[in-house]
Amino acid sequence: MLPHQLQSALADLDALGLRRRRRLLDGAQGARVWVDGRAFLSFSSNDYLGLAGHPAIAEAASRAAGEVGVGAGAAHLLTGHHRLHHELEQALAAFVGMPAALLFSTGYMANLGVIQSLIDRHGEVFEDRLNHASLVDAALLSRAKLIRFPHLDLATLERQLAASTAKVKLIATDTVFSMDGDLAPVAGLLALADKYDAWLYLDDAHGFGVLGKEGRGALGNLPLATRHPRLIYLATLGKAAGVSGAFVAGSAELIEWLVNKARAYIYTTAQPPLLAAAVSASLELIAHETWRRERLGELITRLKAGVAGLPWGLMASDTPIQPLLVGDQHAALALAEGLRQRGILIPAIRPPTVPQGAARLRISLSAAHAPDDVDALLSALHALADTHD
Ligand SMILES: *Cc1c(COP(=O)(O)O)cnc(C)c1O
Repeated sequence: MLPHQLQSALADLDALGLRRRRRLLDGAQGARVWVDGRAFLSFSSNDYLGLAGHPAIAEAASRAAGEVGVGAGAAHLLTGHHRLHHELEQALAAFVGMPAALLFSTGYMANLGVIQSLIDRHGEVFEDRLNHASLVDAALLSRAKLIRFPHLDLATLERQLAASTAKVKLIATDTVFSMDGDLAPVAGLLALADKYDAWLYLDDAHGFGVLGKEGRGALGNLPLATRHPRLIYLATLGKAAGVSGAFVAGSAELIEWLVNKARAYIYTTAQPPLLAAAVSASLELIAHETWRRERLGELITRLKAGVAGLPWGLMASDTPIQPLLVGDQHAALALAEGLRQRGILIPAIRPPTVPQGAARLRISLSAAHAPDDVDALLSALHALADTHD
């Protein structure tokens, strides 16, 4: 792309219905937001537990700012590794039942750092076709051969693993697929990883805080005996946890290796320690306020019951990610715009984020929503369906 080509390339995106624009948020994230100068009911954040604007978390952050300031000042391997980071790592490892954990500044960086440090161009990475872009980018950056298998298709994955001659193999998957809301078959994947001596890398960005009674995430249902050293767990802290950052959990040796080799860990400034204090406060709320997950369950049931009779259907999902499949990207944009005019904000997800012809509205529910909010969404959808031919 040359500078003079940008204008027509952007116009092409417009014509295809693929131009992306940022909306301007004022105030706090929540069920109701001020966006582009107007109040909206929002179903468009990943703040599944309604913690992003929680006063106890803000209070923990500002208390820490008062005590230790804001900037971390250096990378973790220099003098940036604060006691607040260190204690949080221990708490997170214990919470997900793994031997050790390591904080990263973002989930994107964690994925780049982990995969690149474990595998090189002689290795092979096996990924579900619907994995998050950061897992795909991580495999590309590692220069390993990237082999993708059809969504959730363990039989194809097994054939691919059996055919592989690579010494180092790594299977990577979202646990909760970010644009579909469905779940990876974690136990089956672990069995294949054992059988073919591969790493299993689980990206639980949308499961941590949400799955399981206490929000311990995708590992919550696995027996402890399966916490084999080949298992690598990633969760992000900017979604259900309502803060920022990510952590990787695994064996003590794995974490030690990442400290030494993960470039996305080493060559970047540590996150402000006040964020670690904020996540620690969030972890208390995640573990103890089970009503947030119960509320989510009720909202999911209510939404599913209410969409009957609409020309668009919900995709199969039992998580707070409830995509309404529209198909055509222009139609998805028009539906999102109709909702926006009725004061409701839901993003239209279009290719290349999702496959061609599978554009959708990604409805994301939050414990911050009241049942009435779901009802308001449902009446707006039914009203729009009546004007739809
Ligand atoms: C959001 C997301 C990431 C990236 O995490 P950030 O902390 O936002 O960089 C990684 N993987 C999945 C599946 C995600 O949804």
